[in-house]
Amino acid sequence: MNKIHFQLVTPERTVLEEELDSLSCPTELGQITILPSHVPLVATITPGELIARAGEKEHSIAVSGGFVEIRPNNQVIVLADAAEHYYEIDTKRAEEAVKRAQVAMKEKAMSAEEYARVAASLQQSLSRLNIARKHSHRRTAPLSGEGVFKE
Ligand code: ATP
Repeated sequence: MNKIHFQLVTPERTVLEEELDSLSCPTELGQITILPSHVPLVATITPGELIARAGEKEHSIAVSGGFVEIRPNNQVIVLADAAEHYYEIDTKRAEEAVKRAQVAMKEKAMSAEEYARVAASLQQSLSRLNIARKHSHRRTAPLSGEGVFKE
């Protein structure tokens, strides 16, 4: 069966490089599901959960902004500003970032640009918290490989 040759990179590291059966990705077009033989496409990533599936294995990754590019030959590349596996998310840090953003939006006079930046940061931190909470019943990090294993 055809596989997706997937790569997720940030400016800091390669977060995931794997042969996948499918991929679900948060974009400005909504959450899109990519299967092998998808038509070529470039879309903007929005803060949310990227789910990469390979057999029984399911990777859950928080992504912020960036781009997803679906190339011919089943190549899919995500260039993300930041990305963390669910088990890498520091919830205390995300909670503090949420508080900082909320206080700034309430108390500071901001330009439209500043406000948009703070609002985007708030959205990203809330998304990190949602993803961490969704998987909080699971072990800290998967024992075998980096995936989340369906129960
Ligand atoms: P903060 O305001 O909490 O410092 P930030 O907005 O500066 O966060 P980003 O610019 O989104 O953070 O990301 C910078 C780096 O820090 C990236 O490598 C990202 O993966 C990592 N990062 C940010 N927040 C968290 C978090 N809550 N848990 C784990 N890694 C995080």
